[in-house]
Amino acid sequence: MQHQEIAYSTMRKILTISSFILIIIPIVIISLVTTYNFKQYALSKIEKNASSLLDHRKDVITLFLKKQEDLLVTLTGMYPLDYLGRQEHLEKLFVAVNKTNEIVDLHVIDSSGAQLAYVGPYARSIKGKNYHGQPWFEDVLINGKHISDVFTGYREVPHFVVAVTDPLKSYVLRATINSAIFNALLLNAQIGPRGDAYILNHQGEFQTPSLLGVNILTTEEKNLIEYHEGVTTQTIGPSHYTSRWIKDGQWLLVITSNVEDSLAFFYDIRNTNIIIILVASIIVLLVGFGVSCYLVRRLEKADQVKYEIDLQMVQVEKMATVGRLAAGIAHEINNPLQLITSQAGWIQELLAEENPEQVKHLEEYQKAVAKIKYHVNRAATVTHRLLGFSRKMTAEKECVNVHDLIEEALSFIENDARLNNIQIKTEFAEDMPTTLTDGPQLQQVFFNLINNALDAIEEGGRIDIRTRTDKDTIYMEFTDSGTGIKPEIMKKIFDPFFTTKDPGKGTGLGMSICYDIMRKLGGKIEVRNEEKGGATFTLTLPIQCH
Ligand code: ADP
Repeated sequence: MQHQEIAYSTMRKILTISSFILIIIPIVIISLVTTYNFKQYALSKIEKNASSLLDHRKDVITLFLKKQEDLLVTLTGMYPLDYLGRQEHLEKLFVAVNKTNEIVDLHVIDSSGAQLAYVGPYARSIKGKNYHGQPWFEDVLINGKHISDVFTGYREVPHFVVAVTDPLKSYVLRATINSAIFNALLLNAQIGPRGDAYILNHQGEFQTPSLLGVNILTTEEKNLIEYHEGVTTQTIGPSHYTSRWIKDGQWLLVITSNVEDSLAFFYDIRNTNIIIILVASIIVLLVGFGVSCYLVRRLEKADQVKYEIDLQMVQVEKMATVGRLAAGIAHEINNPLQLITSQAGWIQELLAEENPEQVKHLEEYQKAVAKIKYHVNRAATVTHRLLGFSRKMTAEKECVNVHDLIEEALSFIENDARLNNIQIKTEFAEDMPTTLTDGPQLQQVFFNLINNALDAIEEGGRIDIRTRTDKDTIYMEFTDSGTGIKPEIMKKIFDPFFTTKDPGKGTGLGMSICYDIMRKLGGKIEVRNEEKGGATFTLTLPIQCH
């Protein structure tokens, strides 16, 4: 039994674990693949966003510089040196063209580098300066225009300039660009709280301040300033760097975004997924365990029923063997008994002819022969009953009186009843007709009912057997003063193998055999509890003898 328990518990574990694995593994694989794909998609989306932002900013900056350059080109095209070289003219022009404050100051410098006119806040610090020989100045004279890097210059404030010459190259008009307005062009390019946007020159110097206040590039970041065409994306440390060269390859526009920040929404979804999988796992485990327990319990019950049926079958087999044996013995004993009876009858007849005067103990002989006949008769009754009980007798129907059959059955258990102080009372209908039925089988029903009644009473009580009849039915009631039948098992007592008795004592077959026999005989069997305790079985049998 113990090894069976272990087998059931192993079965339960295997079922639980396999149902868990079968359901959870696909879920985990699907969600890992989905999460991986989703992350890749999120990263590509971030790259795309960064590069389109970069393009957009590039356009804005290029447009801004072009605007400044175009303004200067227009002015130099419109005004000759002798007009623009005069301070008052330049001042008027400065007010007229600088409504948006994008320009900090304007210079007019002749081709020898001498400053002719200046409008702006740094008049004192740069007064009388000569720009001859300075690279930017030479570049303007050669190429017609120059947009500088950010530099400190004479005024010691970082700034950059846009300068152009007039078509005759007789002078240079130079504007210093308002760094605050220029820098603001990058403010909108910040992606997330840890994102940055700035412009570098070829030396890796910041042309606009880093939005995060960074001043120096790390060695890895310096690799960014290698020249490349179009947009490049690199991951350095925890950040994505998206960059492209602008202003004819002079400046590198860089937009950085922190990968963690950019993937924040992805991590949120991933964490929710993990929680859902965890909860699902717990539910699957519990449900799997519940279902496994249920199935194993069903199996256990089925095994138990099968085990009991096997036991009962052995019992039934035994009983059948005993029945066959009894029938054989009864048959064998019947013949000698008949012989003894006929010989005893013969002796009786001979004795009757003897003269009492001549036979000294004639009376004793006659009494002894009568006793022999009486006891042989008794023995014959027993063998007859044994044959009836073993059902080896012909199953043909015969006309029987149910009262005789009841009396006969009672004679079997009289002794038992007396020993257990149980009174058996019969109340028979007077005009009971005989009926065509299978006597031995009907008697077995009586026998089973009385036996069960004895079991239910155990000790001290009574059994009442009543019969009555109407035109075509015989009713027989067996009432006992026993335990009665609990309502919850009332419906089950006619089931084969249902018993409340200890194993070995009850087979659970008696009632089902009674039910079967009564049905076969065209009658029925019913049961009810008595209010004062005990149970009553009512048999109904059709009268079929006329
Ligand atoms: P068994 O007697 O071998 O248990 P039966 O089929 O004859 O099998 O009876 C089935 C069950 O019905 C009994 O175990 C018992 O619980 C119940 N039963 C039958 N007759 C009576 C009775 N007269 N009083 C109380 N219970 C009874």
